[in-house]
Amino acid sequence: MTELGLLLLALYLVEGLRWAPRDSIFWSRRPWGGLRPRSPREWRRGSHAGPLLPEPWLPCLGRLPSHGWPLALSPAGLCVLRGPRAGEALEWSAAAKIGLAGSHLTVDKQRLADAGSAREARALSALIRRLAVAAKEDRHGVIEDALRRRFSAVEARSRIEQWRRASRPGTLLAWAVTLNLAAGPILSALLGWARVVPAWVGLHALLTLLITGFFFAAARWLGDHGPDDRWQQAISMVLYPPSTARFQDALGRDLLAGLDPLAAAPLHAAGLPELARSRLADSERHHGSTSPVRDWYAAELARSVDRLLEAEGLSPEVLRSAPVRESGALSYCPSCRTQYRVGRGTCRDCDETPLTPFA
Ligand SMILES: [Zn+2]
Repeated sequence: MTELGLLLLALYLVEGLRWAPRDSIFWSRRPWGGLRPRSPREWRRGSHAGPLLPEPWLPCLGRLPSHGWPLALSPAGLCVLRGPRAGEALEWSAAAKIGLAGSHLTVDKQRLADAGSAREARALSALIRRLAVAAKEDRHGVIEDALRRRFSAVEARSRIEQWRRASRPGTLLAWAVTLNLAAGPILSALLGWARVVPAWVGLHALLTLLITGFFFAAARWLGDHGPDDRWQQAISMVLYPPSTARFQDALGRDLLAGLDPLAAAPLHAAGLPELARSRLADSERHHGSTSPVRDWYAAELARSVDRLLEAEGLSPEVLRSAPVRESGALSYCPSCRTQYRVGRGTCRDCDETPLTPFA
């Protein structure tokens, strides 16, 4: 029974692991309320994707993944931003060749870029098809419109509120199934397996039935899952206990699809300036590159971040201003604000962000 307990714990932890692009943000609900942004770890130096580690209280709270675009779009064409083909550019005349394979965008069946989720990839490929057939002078407007929708904090708030309302009544069920999974092996060790197992398995079956029914109703109400998707999820919950415990994760999986990771940041009051700085530093980092597509897109992205900040009553200038200078400091990281005693170089913690010298 100890072995079974350890096996269940291992399955539960593995079930909580996610692999995602490094610039994705998982909005994780905290037990005392509010959302906390969590990013995938750096797998190895400079890696473009990494693991998101599970949290102990997760079964009852869920995480809402949000992914940035893996491509820069401009009226002239597109350019891959991350992954093994980063820097590769395509003109719109060649964009018709772009296909889909799960969460990947492909060219001639070869992987071009990873959009983070299948739904995100479908939306991006639809936008690419639209841009490929649009007149050159219309493309600017199409991209600007798409970015405006991606950076809508109003939309993020409304979706998260819907998800809260849909998933909250199931929180007790998630806790109950988790505690029951943990209690079985412990009670069996104390009282003997013959006395515990029938009640343990029976209770788990009952809770699974309740959770599956609840998931079906909530997913239908949210409208993010198609019928096939709902059935697939329900079958995996019946067959695989750890996924039953984490059903709120499944419910929120595509909730923020189509929105930029920063769109949900205003819900994490203390984190918006910090996240916006890191996003601005990220988009400005591409300015030094030689790709005009990337430069155009970085400027457009910076405007979208500014609009979001202004809508939330924050000044973009305050975010870009230098921190209070510590004695001996010659430069700082524009993303995390760490100060350095060297005049130039890159930040140790922020994926090689170039340092800004103090004026
Ligand atoms: Zn930094």
